[in-house]
Amino acid sequence: MSRKELIKQVGNERIRILFNAAEERMEMGDSALAKSYIKRLMKISTHYKIKLSKEMKNKICKKCNTLLIPGKTCSVRIVSVHKYVSYECNNCKGQTHIFY
Ligand SMILES: [Zn+2]
Repeated sequence: MSRKELIKQVGNERIRILFNAAEERMEMGDSALAKSYIKRLMKISTHYKIKLSKEMKNKICKKCNTLLIPGKTCSVRIVSVHKYVSYECNNCKGQTHIFY
């Protein structure tokens, strides 16, 4: 395995761990710590050019890095005319559109 591949692998692993930890913290009601985990994870992602999985990306507010949990940190609206689900972040009111 090349050094580059190794860095990617370790980076991916760290991102996954941080994401899980953020989800756990969020469930415990510690949104501040969850946010700091997300920030760290985003830093690793941009620094090592590691793409986040679609699932992760859809769960993170692009504007303020809040973990989006329907009914808790974001509200979900289905816009069937345009075939997308709109997630509105309760923290910054930023919207994420996920097409289906
Ligand atoms: Zn937000």
